Amino acid sequence: MLIDSHAHILSLEDPVGAITRASEAGVGKIISIGTGIESSKGTVELTHKYNGIFASVGIHPHAASSYSDSLMGEFEALLDEPKVVGIGETGLDYFYMNSSKEEQMISCEAHIDLATKYNLPFVIHIRGADDDLIDLFKIKDMNENPGVIHCFSSHYEIARKYLDLGFYISFSGILTFNKADDVRAAAKNIPLDRILYETDSPYLAPVPKRGKKNEPAYVQYIAGLLAEIKGLSVEELNDQVLDNITNLFSKIPKDKTGLI
Ligand SMILES: [Zn+2]
Repeated sequence: MLIDSHAHILSLEDPVGAITRASEAGVGKIISIGTGIESSKGTVELTHKYNGIFASVGIHPHAASSYSDSLMGEFEALLDEPKVVGIGETGLDYFYMNSSKEEQMISCEAHIDLATKYNLPFVIHIRGADDDLIDLFKIKDMNENPGVIHCFSSHYEIARKYLDLGFYISFSGILTFNKADDVRAAAKNIPLDRILYETDSPYLAPVPKRGKKNEPAYVQYIAGLLAEIKGLSVEELNDQVLDNITNLFSKIPKDKTGLI
């Protein structure tokens, strides 16, 4: 059973069709990620309709300027939902800088505090800001398994720092890109019990679908390459990833009952 640990299902052109195709491709669980309050609420609705869809709720760093304490209260109200399994995506993005560094830091810290309070893992988006993020983590009170660095796109030395802080590392279609030797080397070195994979759809379609709109069914290409890198069969990798994702996101049941 394939597992897509990070997809923005509501951003897909045809969510219902994509869910059907994912199910046919053998995807049994998807964590659908909210990036603001509307998409987070919509994602929670989606979890009511599909057996294998779970939600993570939060404010994307691009939208961190929308953060307010009262908005955070609206997210907090969603955490009682049985299939809201994580917080985010949050993090820091100094590449696009759609919100200021200060706004991103305030929002990220509030997400960490909420995750700690409810003992939920958080989902981290990081671009061009590893030093600031790692400094922040070192001073924050965090859960033992704080969360996942999603769409990991750096080299092993950086991954090591996140692993030492207790994070899991998730690989996206970037793993399949021609120039991503550093990312593949990182994947080879990361302990098997700390690895996840994802599509980040509709973004970053993997080879051989590169250039198309990404969707959860394409996670098979990422899992296939990752299994090859780790010297496992895809089935062995998938069983390990099921262990990993249910260890980290403890509200996800460890069954194989399927997506739909
Ligand atoms: Zn994302």
